[in-house]
Order: sequence, then structure tokens, then C-alpha cells
Amino acid sequence: MKKSMLFAGAISLTLLVGIRLASLAAAEEFPAEWTEPTRPFRIVGDIYYVGTKGLAAYLIRSGGEAVLIDGTMPENAALVEANVEALGMPLGDVDILLLSHAHIDHAGALAELKRHSGAALYASEGDRWALENGKHDGDSAYSFLTFPPVTVDHALKDGEVVTVGSLELTATLTPGHTKGCTTWSVPVIENGETLRVVFPCSLSVAGNVLAGNMTYPTIAADYRRSFGTVGAMEADVVLPSHPGLGGVLQRAARRDAGDPRAFVDRALLKRIVDDARAAFEKELSKAKR
Ligand SMILES: [Zn+2]
Repeated sequence: MKKSMLFAGAISLTLLVGIRLASLAAAEEFPAEWTEPTRPFRIVGDIYYVGTKGLAAYLIRSGGEAVLIDGTMPENAALVEANVEALGMPLGDVDILLLSHAHIDHAGALAELKRHSGAALYASEGDRWALENGKHDGDSAYSFLTFPPVTVDHALKDGEVVTVGSLELTATLTPGHTKGCTTWSVPVIENGETLRVVFPCSLSVAGNVLAGNMTYPTIAADYRRSFGTVGAMEADVVLPSHPGLGGVLQRAARRDAGDPRAFVDRALLKRIVDDARAAFEKELSKAKR
């Protein structure tokens, strides 16, 4: 009797310490700018920035229809909602929620945004489990991070086109970072010129177990295929879910200061892919040692 009580006590202490460590790690993990507000602004064509300083949410609207790509952190739902409404659009006018991938920093606010907007969530089959369970699917150093689960209303196929007014957004599946990581692309018109806009899904390792991943055995092959897929895409404008990766806010400042082509950078996507591939191969060879 005494022994089992002690055992139970040890378990609860371990649990408490575990939870404490997890929340400490989480607090240290998240940069302050991820939850810092920033004003919304038009990027190019009908694409608007409605995220925080450090995490992107993109609103695309055309012909009375609108979609949102990513919601950012769970606590940011009200900030994103306020940014959409500051652009003169009630959140309820958003028809469809899309996402780059099912991690807390991009999908965390989707449940609340879905409730408030009444929009349908379209996501890849590969990310469905993670979204509906509110946690990363696969072996990862960050498996303890959870976010409010959200139901997927429509499973996107590779190459599927989502229409927003006169715009056509294409979903390209680029798994690795998550099982259903989705890269979005859309051509828009800016100053009479067609610009190919790409929203690349994350390609970073970010705590993923690359060798011997029991719950995602094909992870390394998926990453490598996705480097090829995204590396082969032509992009005039790159809008990552981590805006710092593409200097999105800095480009907006440059554009506002008089440079009309501040967002155009045809070498950026290849640079992002090359950097991610190099970091991945380094991590993979370390993991195999
Ligand atoms: Zn991620």
C-alpha cells in the first residue's frame, strides 16, 4: 500500500515537473514578436498581410470572396481578426481558411478563427490528423506542443485549385516539415504586370526526428522531394509563413518609401530552398551518426 502510494506520488511529481519543463521550454521557444501586433497592409494584387510582427497570416480577396492562409498562434486570433476588419472586411466574409502546415505557430488560431468566421477549413489529408488532434504528427522534439484542435471540412489534393473571385490558388503538397505541408501559389496583377506569388511551406528541420522516425518513416525522402518541388517553382514574390525569412515587413517599408518593386525578388525562393536543404543534410548526417 505504502509502496504504491509512493509510486503514485512519484508519477504525479514527474508529471508536474514534465508539464513545468514543457511550459518553460515553450515560453523560451516562442519569440516575443510572434505575438506582437503589427498593422495590416496590402502586399501585391489582392493579397494582404494580417499577421503579427513575427508570424504571417495572409488574406486574399477578390470578387467578394476571401480566403485566409494561416492563423498564427492560438492567442493571436483576436489580433488577426482585428487586422482583417481594419481592412474594412468583417471576418464573417472570409469563406475559406487555408494553412501552410499544422503547427501551433501557424494553425494555432484556426479553431477560434473558424468559429468566429464560419469559414470552411481546407487542408491536406496529410495534416488532417495533426489539425484534428491539435499536435504534431510524427516524432519530434516539440511533440509536447499542443494547440486547439480544428475540424477539416475539405481534404485538398496535390495540385488542387481553390478559386477566390477571379484568382486561382494552387495547392502543392511539399511534405517533410509536416506530413501535409502545403505550398500555395497564385498569379496576381500588380501595376499591369502578372506576378507569380508563392507561399512556400516551411522546409526547416525544426525538431523533427530525421533518422528512425517511427511515426513518420518517409520523412527524409519527403523533405528531399519537397526541396526539388519548391526549388523548381518560379516565384516573383515569396511570402513565407515566417515573414522574416522573406523580409516581408521590411519590403513593405521599402515599397511605402517609394520602391514599387520592393516585393519582387526572383532569386529568393531558390535561396530559401538552398539554405533549408543544406541545413537539412547537415542535421540528417548528424542524426545518422
Ligand atoms: Zn512548423
